[in-house]
Amino acid sequence: MDRKLPSIALIALLLTLFLPSLGYGYWKGEEDVEPLDHYYIEVFLDEREYKLSGYLVLHHFNKHSVAFRELYFHVYPNAFKPWNGSVEILSVINLNTLRKLKYSIVGEDLTILKVFLDEILEPKKWIKIAINFTVLIARKGDRFGYNNGIYALGYFYPILAVYDKSGWNLNPYTWIGDPVYAETSNYKVYIIANRSMVIAATGVRKRVDDLGKGLKGELWIAENVREFAFVASKEFKVSKTVWKNITIYSYYKPEKGLMGEAALEYAKRAIKVFSENIGFYPYPEFRAVEVDFGYGGMEYPMLIMIAGKLYEPERAFWLELVIAHETGHQWFYNIIGNDEYDEPWLDEGFTELVTILYFEWNYGYKRGLEVYNMYKSHYYRYLSRHVDYPLALSVGFFERKPYPYSYYYIVYRKGACVLFMLRRMLGDDLFFKCLRTYYERFKFRIATIDDFIKTVEEVSGQDLDWFFEHWVFGSGVPRYTIRSLRAYPTFQGYVLEVEIGQLDETPLYLKMRVPLLVKTSSGEFIKWVWVNGTASTVRVLLSDKPVSVRVDPYDYILGQDAKTVFYVKIMEETVTLPFIRGLTKSFLVQLGVLLTLLLVTSTLLILYRRKGGKVL
Ligand SMILES: [Zn+2]
Repeated sequence: MDRKLPSIALIALLLTLFLPSLGYGYWKGEEDVEPLDHYYIEVFLDEREYKLSGYLVLHHFNKHSVAFRELYFHVYPNAFKPWNGSVEILSVINLNTLRKLKYSIVGEDLTILKVFLDEILEPKKWIKIAINFTVLIARKGDRFGYNNGIYALGYFYPILAVYDKSGWNLNPYTWIGDPVYAETSNYKVYIIANRSMVIAATGVRKRVDDLGKGLKGELWIAENVREFAFVASKEFKVSKTVWKNITIYSYYKPEKGLMGEAALEYAKRAIKVFSENIGFYPYPEFRAVEVDFGYGGMEYPMLIMIAGKLYEPERAFWLELVIAHETGHQWFYNIIGNDEYDEPWLDEGFTELVTILYFEWNYGYKRGLEVYNMYKSHYYRYLSRHVDYPLALSVGFFERKPYPYSYYYIVYRKGACVLFMLRRMLGDDLFFKCLRTYYERFKFRIATIDDFIKTVEEVSGQDLDWFFEHWVFGSGVPRYTIRSLRAYPTFQGYVLEVEIGQLDETPLYLKMRVPLLVKTSSGEFIKWVWVNGTASTVRVLLSDKPVSVRVDPYDYILGQDAKTVFYVKIMEETVTLPFIRGLTKSFLVQLGVLLTLLLVTSTLLILYRRKGGKVL
């Protein structure tokens, strides 16, 4: 079935015929309240030709204060040309004027559709654009591709690019990261496919129509989502469960059996703990879907694709970890949007953090710590062979490096560890308050790294530039050791004097709070101290006699510090006589001298008086 149409009149007719079936105008009357863009898409999945054909109508609201003469869309299927994936734009029409618009395919990998408007799109005005397209589906196990009986269909339609303070964001597709940077929009998508096809999509299935000739039409509706994707296979078995008012589904090939059920349980646990601890999952449904690809998983709104190879009993841990990670993206990328290309830490690093927390919240602190330690060890192993980078770098930066996998070790692993460190600096109450406030403030909006930092500083009431400057915008990991350690007794107790220094000369001038494990005659405790620069001397007053000190014993601060236990040298033994405990010997000597002087003076005075005041 080919939906390529010969004329504008026919397309207009088609739109008139089909849009009512899509519930066109569903949001009418709400435009002034919530000017979200609306996508109306209809596609036919042609299995014989591995093709999607159809059109999209975009109702776009110009919320900016500038007028536009052009609009830009991402057409990512063109990045898949080596695997026969591509998009062909058949026509673009301004439905306000019913005029055909000029367009061109641009960008280094030809994944940008530039549309020249026939009228200026003024600020606070709507435009309705229809794009008629066909897409060849890549023959590749990928997030956009057909493989092993499964159609994975992310990025199949033109996605409007984001205009922000940097202008239009027209980054290319990325093979190591995620390319999507989008405003939340409402979607109504009508998918026409073989009747035996099982479809899992972003949104809620509102209707299934029997179209005859073995075809069906499914209407999917999603509100406030970043994009739309679907997966289709004739082999899928479907399981579902409910948590509160959210229905969670697992789609898998029947031979995966119990592991498909396990995937459902993991997805439910993730939705539950993230809802309870970060902010409630704001959609009615969620789907975890098996896909045959080389990644572990891939996130789309209300839908995650999970690698089929993970549905094995011996890989249960990885299946659970990947489902936790991809589900975490519902919060970091979908609900709280970010520029995945330029600031990937905001979605990948945060998602890795909540993956650790998934294990902690479900199975206890110790289990979470094991996952954290695993991530940290990956990062340390990377550091032993490669150079460190700041977190605030784009996917493109890493993609151009000779070792592009730095991206995973830095943005994912270090990214999560730095957030975990922030948690320990702030304490749990404050840290999670920051996270929840960040969610509330940027729910369905776009956040930047600066927005996150501002939120944390506001909520905590602390100036944390010293932390973020180094750990997000800087690079290098300090390794601390104790250079000298002594204590001396005073009237109030013991003064412990610790000189902390870095084992290496870099990073220079780092200001850092470092925990010390101080062991005294009566027990042990953690004392956080400031270290300014590469070495600092700090003094701590203790009521009990200090025995030993270790720097950062639980590795709260990233960096492999000296593991040694440093023993305290007591500078002067205290006198242990009763009543004068705690006095130093030198003090007693001084007291002795004073008393002797007093004695001599008074003797002289007495002698003087006895002599009748005569000078001796
Ligand atoms: Zn991810």
